[in-house]
Amino acid sequence: MFDVVVVGAGPGGSITAKTCAENGLNVLLVEKRQEIGVPVRCAEGISKSALERFVEPKKFFISREVVGAKIYAPDGTEITLSEERAGNEVGYVLERKVFDRYLAKLASNAGAEVLVKTTAYAFERKDGIVRVKLRRMGEEWEVETKIVVGADGVESRVAKAFGIDTTLKPNELESCVQYLMTNIDFDPDYCHFWLGKSIAPGGYIWLFPKKVGANVGIGVMPSLAKRSPKEYLDDFVSERFPNGRIVELVAGAVPVCGEIESAVADNLMLVGDAARHADPITGGGIANAMKAGYYAGKVAVEAVKRGDFSKNFLKRYDKLWKDDFGKDLARKRKLQQKLIKMDDETLNKIFRSIPKNIKELSVRAIVLEIFKKHPKLLWDIKDLIL
Ligand SMILES: Cc1cc2nc3c(=O)[nH]c(=O)nc-3n(C[C@H](O)[C@H](O)[C@H](O)COP(=O)(O)OP(=O)(O)OC[C@H]3O[C@@H](n4cnc5c(N)ncnc54)[C@H](O)[C@@H]3O)c2cc1C
Repeated sequence: MFDVVVVGAGPGGSITAKTCAENGLNVLLVEKRQEIGVPVRCAEGISKSALERFVEPKKFFISREVVGAKIYAPDGTEITLSEERAGNEVGYVLERKVFDRYLAKLASNAGAEVLVKTTAYAFERKDGIVRVKLRRMGEEWEVETKIVVGADGVESRVAKAFGIDTTLKPNELESCVQYLMTNIDFDPDYCHFWLGKSIAPGGYIWLFPKKVGANVGIGVMPSLAKRSPKEYLDDFVSERFPNGRIVELVAGAVPVCGEIESAVADNLMLVGDAARHADPITGGGIANAMKAGYYAGKVAVEAVKRGDFSKNFLKRYDKLWKDDFGKDLARKRKLQQKLIKMDDETLNKIFRSIPKNIKELSVRAIVLEIFKKHPKLLWDIKDLIL
């Protein structure tokens, strides 16, 4: 009998398990993969402040530090943002193979039981508790728990098992492909982003520098893309990095649907990608997954103290994550819906209207400058940005 069973040892699950265990709960963290963090399905970027809110940065899980972001319009016009102004994905480029494992180790050190190569495949609620069926290498068994935390990523099955429909429509996700590339030429002090319907419909191409080489990837919105993300990425790579070598390939999806109504049910909380907590504009989800994991852990501790695992009680978790970043998800989803309609020529115009001598290059300052010159261009989305 556990107080909490956490399904999935990504950043969301490990921070949940750590928070619960530090506060004296009896926690089981299960991960279906045999190695935590492998294969990496991430460009591995996170802002310094987002990381440092939860973990002390360590050299062994940071692959590279960057000073900002360079963003390119379809015609190549470039703007540079400093790290503090570039959003939640720019600052550190992690080594997630090591980072995810480190977070799970912190959970284990705090007292959580961690099981790898273990899949939670069925859930049965009865008499106010949950029976979780687990499978590892052909062996099957059951554990009982008061609370399940579904931190099982974008393909979450836990949500459905508890009656929460988190199905994503083709315009609510980014379909991604990424290469780890070597033998390419780029400025390693920056993360780089290329925008444009012709380059990545409904998404963008990124380059995140690593100690050796860089993560070069693409996200496209399936409702807008005419080809597979790999085809768009291959076009870009063969033109820009003709001598580049691909040493790893990953594919994955990111939820970009914005804020969901609720991430709780009786005996259940969802965190991170399972709760669709990723940023609808950038697709970044590590920071919010860790925040959500922390809040879920705190609420689990209170629930166990009170002996109340009802949806009604667990709703305080909804309030915590919504107060922190829910509104931001909703606003960015609206903004994303406007931006994906923008054609390449408008994007070029916007980038070209940003003066080179602008002092404070924040998104707000840029928008104000564009407004002065072309009020019509951004009229529709001004309220979402300012
Ligand atoms: C190509 C790509 C690039 C990205 N780049 C960035 C980036 O640069 N910065 C950023 O912030 N975000 C990025 N993201 C998003 C980021 O990777 C996710 O938002 C983040 O990993 C979410 O963390 P999580 O803990 O919610 O889920 P995950 O990290 O997905 O972890 C879920 C875990 O649950 C396990 N699991 C699933 N089902 C079960 C089960 N039934 N039983 C046991 N275990 C199970 C999985 O194996 C997995 O380990 C990117 C995503 C993709 C696809």
